Amino acid sequence: EYKHEKSQEWFNRALNAIPSGVYGHLGPSEGLFLPITKWPLMSDHAKGTYFWDVDGNKYLDFMCAYGPNVLGYCDEDVDAAAMAQLKQGNCTTSPSYKMVECAELLKDTVATADWAFFMKNGSDATTFSVMCARAHTGKKKMMFFKGYYHGDFQWAQKADYPGILPEEVENNVVVPWFDMDAMQKAYDEANGDFAGLIAQPYDHGNFFDNTTATKEQWAKVRKFCDDHGMVLIIDDVRTGFRLDLAGSDHYYGFKADLICFCKALANGYNMSAVCGQEHMKNTASSVVYTGSYWMSAEPFAACLACIPKMKRLDTPKMFREKGTLLCDGLVAAGKEHGFNLKVSGEPALFYLRIANDDSLMLHQEWIAECVSRGLFLASHHNHFMNAAVTDEDIKLAVDIAEDAFGVVAARHPELGLK
Ligand code: PMP
Repeated sequence: EYKHEKSQEWFNRALNAIPSGVYGHLGPSEGLFLPITKWPLMSDHAKGTYFWDVDGNKYLDFMCAYGPNVLGYCDEDVDAAAMAQLKQGNCTTSPSYKMVECAELLKDTVATADWAFFMKNGSDATTFSVMCARAHTGKKKMMFFKGYYHGDFQWAQKADYPGILPEEVENNVVVPWFDMDAMQKAYDEANGDFAGLIAQPYDHGNFFDNTTATKEQWAKVRKFCDDHGMVLIIDDVRTGFRLDLAGSDHYYGFKADLICFCKALANGYNMSAVCGQEHMKNTASSVVYTGSYWMSAEPFAACLACIPKMKRLDTPKMFREKGTLLCDGLVAAGKEHGFNLKVSGEPALFYLRIANDDSLMLHQEWIAECVSRGLFLASHHNHFMNAAVTDEDIKLAVDIAEDAFGVVAARHPELGLK
């Protein structure tokens, strides 16, 4: 079992210097609920599909930094391109021509992209898209699907969250996923004052089984938006380039008006993008939007190496196959010990839940035992595949998972699992 003494020391220092120590989704308290003693609080280095914490513990990592690790940590091709660009210049008064190459590459890659606009975070991209929808239509409200996450800018939070004014979210209207009657009702109740709909390509929320979508469901939503003059925004921040290099809207057989990318664009180098159809281009030009580092050249150079490599490897196909292999192995390992491990979502972003226990506590216990043995999974969040995962890694993951199932089963004779 792994020890975390140095991690704890660093975390105590962090608590003195940083609010909550490690904040947001990379911290131990957000969404994951492992006992803090089981959690590798501080990383030292990473390579491929592994990272090592400051205590020297090695983790086979299926969280992939929550998405950015798409080719493998420290991918040599992407890093070489980024390092070369750093020597050439990064943050300069005029943007590097690499920005243009990057936009052209996205136009060639993403089915719905007639143009691309760059920023840094997923939240920058979703916020820009919502501003574009309002600027384009002159309407106020935005429709969301239940359980949405589009970042943590004010408009995307909830009315009762600290620091949020009710009026910042009063134009958000949430409907159940693909419920056409609810969408029509919401539209009628607002007398049609809707700028658009923003949604992830499928329901990949936390704390519940993920639900994939169908082409028929999306075709209906696309038609609804067309019929009602609403801008359809796809938030592909998490799923982008893992299901389909041409965009997750392409994967589900439709064309978004605007699509937001971030995590897998440049294998961890810091950039995000909104791509859009031609009819949104003038509106995108009109929106007041910029940032100090948004045109830095290093991430563009990384992206110019990352996307072609994803194409060469056909990563979506690889992720589907390897994700399926891994999940099948995990399910079988659970069965050996009487556990019903439920897999949901797309294999490239699989979500796990031990279904023997509705409280999710058994699941958390199993995850903690996996993490303590060097298999990094998250309790209540989807996982991510990356291109460095080998068949040996999958075998190791299944072996560790099986040990962890055995430990949890032995601890709970009262469940009579077998
Ligand atoms: N949308 C989705 C679907 C996301 O998963 C995330 C990040 N987890 C965001 C938006 C926000 O991205 P960021 O944290 O980079 O602002």
